[in-house]
Amino acid sequence: MLAARGLRPNRPAVIAILATACLLHLIGVPVTLAAPTADTYTPSPTPAVSTPPPHPSSTQSPHPGPNANPQPTPESKVDDLQPGKPPPPTPVAKPTPDAQPEATLRASVLLGHSVQGRPIRGVELGHGPRWLAVIGGIHQGDEANSTVLANLLLDHFRQNLAEIPEGVGLAVIPDANPDGAIAGTRANANGVDLNRNWDAGWQPDAYGPSGFVPGAGGTRPFSEPETRALARYLLKRPFVAAIFLHSRGGFVVPGPGAGSVQLANTIARAAQYTQLRGWTAYPLSGQSSKYLVPRGIHVAIVELTTHTHPDYPQNLHGLRVALAWTQHLPPPTESLGVADAEFSDVCGTLPGPYRAGLTSPLCPW
Ligand SMILES: [Zn+2]
Repeated sequence: MLAARGLRPNRPAVIAILATACLLHLIGVPVTLAAPTADTYTPSPTPAVSTPPPHPSSTQSPHPGPNANPQPTPESKVDDLQPGKPPPPTPVAKPTPDAQPEATLRASVLLGHSVQGRPIRGVELGHGPRWLAVIGGIHQGDEANSTVLANLLLDHFRQNLAEIPEGVGLAVIPDANPDGAIAGTRANANGVDLNRNWDAGWQPDAYGPSGFVPGAGGTRPFSEPETRALARYLLKRPFVAAIFLHSRGGFVVPGPGAGSVQLANTIARAAQYTQLRGWTAYPLSGQSSKYLVPRGIHVAIVELTTHTHPDYPQNLHGLRVALAWTQHLPPPTESLGVADAEFSDVCGTLPGPYRAGLTSPLCPW
């Protein structure tokens, strides 16, 4: 090609040119041949195993990524607050020998549920250990003013906790028969008189203000969930005294025993009610007082003057003196040891004795 242009061949120059051309050719050919085409290019497969992240303890990388988790230094406080890590232990002050245990001054309690599933609630005020219960509404209907009174008393002592003597606790259960309260009936939703259903001289038929009522005692002692809930609560706390509110009569009736007579007379004097030695109007069976007194709970039964008025001021005074009387009782030495199963609501599946005259099995209690 150079000879054709008439130039004299310069051998070294030719050699240099050829060498350069060859070198350029050699450089250019591989580039041209290696260029991928659309038909032949196959991308490199993605590695199946990614590169493992640096070890948390690694300190080799000068630029740790967001997942890097360097070892906390003793000065690191931020790391201690990261989610998933337990907080550092907080020093707990050891109680001094003079420290008194902190008991709940006000606590709502759920005793159980009625036949129709309504809750039976109470409120505990004070520390105990001598607990006094005030129970309203075990009879509803025309005795509903007992629930009104119990709520008034509860409101007063809830706002005046200092009136509860040292060593005493007050529990108020305003409505022991919530189904009867809704229906406006003395008895519960099963037509059972809840003060004729306790396991003390129980009878299936019982007397009330309207006379003899077949089936008023229930199918067996503690057949009703309301009586089971109340008995279980009173015995498990345990209580040392209980006041049941009823109407009407304007008197106070003691449960069995000298302690109950003392309590009833104390209330009657303070509230200016008539003191009765006992109930004589009609025969009683399955009563709460006759069940509770042998188990260490003194009982007074307050009959309000009418079916309409709560007699609040005089019963407030009566409860104040009852609390003071309770303060002088010996504290209970131990729980009465009532197991939940003894008043279980599902004891029908458990083997139990049959009582003469009944066709349904009794619970173990
Ligand atoms: Zn009553």
